[in-house]
Amino acid sequence: MKLDKKIAIVTGAASGIGLAIAKRYVAEGAIVAIADLKEDAAQAAAADLTKQGPGKAIGIAMDVTSEEQVNEGVAKVVAQFGGVDILVSNAGIQIVHRIEDFPFAEWKKLISIHLDGAFLTAKACLPHMYKKKSGSIIFMGSVHSKEASPLKSAYVAAKHGILGLARTLAKEGGPYGVRSNVICPGFVRTPLVEKQIPEQARDLGISEDEVVKKVMLGNTVDQLFTTVEDVAEVALTLASFETSALTGQSIVVSHGWNMN
Ligand code: NAD
Repeated sequence: MKLDKKIAIVTGAASGIGLAIAKRYVAEGAIVAIADLKEDAAQAAAADLTKQGPGKAIGIAMDVTSEEQVNEGVAKVVAQFGGVDILVSNAGIQIVHRIEDFPFAEWKKLISIHLDGAFLTAKACLPHMYKKKSGSIIFMGSVHSKEASPLKSAYVAAKHGILGLARTLAKEGGPYGVRSNVICPGFVRTPLVEKQIPEQARDLGISEDEVVKKVMLGNTVDQLFTTVEDVAEVALTLASFETSALTGQSIVVSHGWNMN
């Protein structure tokens, strides 16, 4: 098993990509804390994954924008399991508007979940990783860490910002054996994307079918969605890679939509 008894915290893992990563990690023997705003869903997912084994999972309530909740959640994991080896900062939302119509409160909410959340969770985990002189931090970026699309100013700004945070952390963490990388998925059919299909159809004045075929999959090499399992496989590689040869990188998983 590639993650036997490794301790991982995955934020936003009650659903979608984070849940698939938690599942993949538990299948490789890890102890995974599913940290999510939705406490009941996190606990239900953890019970389900523990049944599947061979690793196990716990669910913890965490709003990644709250310094207090992040610190409490990380402290709970460390007290229960003795440390933290892997952080996947994955919690995220999407809000789409043209810039001139973007409510400032919604801009701030999105930036806070993606950027404050990534910063606060990394900050809370690092001392424990530095003490052990090893660790892997994985940030969930997006093709939108590298490209822009209309209506997504806040998301594109946040996802570009994550690259800067991850690269700085790679440099600061290097001497302590802590690696920092970003996964950049293309469109994955999770609740986050399902919600956008009618919203984009409305805002762009096209049909929902056109949103899927043209906007979401138009630039892929094979008109296919990336799957949660594809992303989880990359998250496993980044978590289990043994040296700091692989740090400060951003890996695009997008059926060729983006090749940078
Ligand atoms: P999802 O909606 O299925 O899951 C997101 C999870 O984050 C939910 O369980 C939600 O409760 C949780 N969450 C939201 N706000 C939170 C907060 N403040 N604190 C803690 N948890 C919070 O979405 P997903 O598609 O699985 O997205 C996961 C990540 O992947 C996001 O960062 C997203 O930007 C990124 N991503 C998604 C896609 C895609 O196409 N689905 C593509 C590229 C990147």
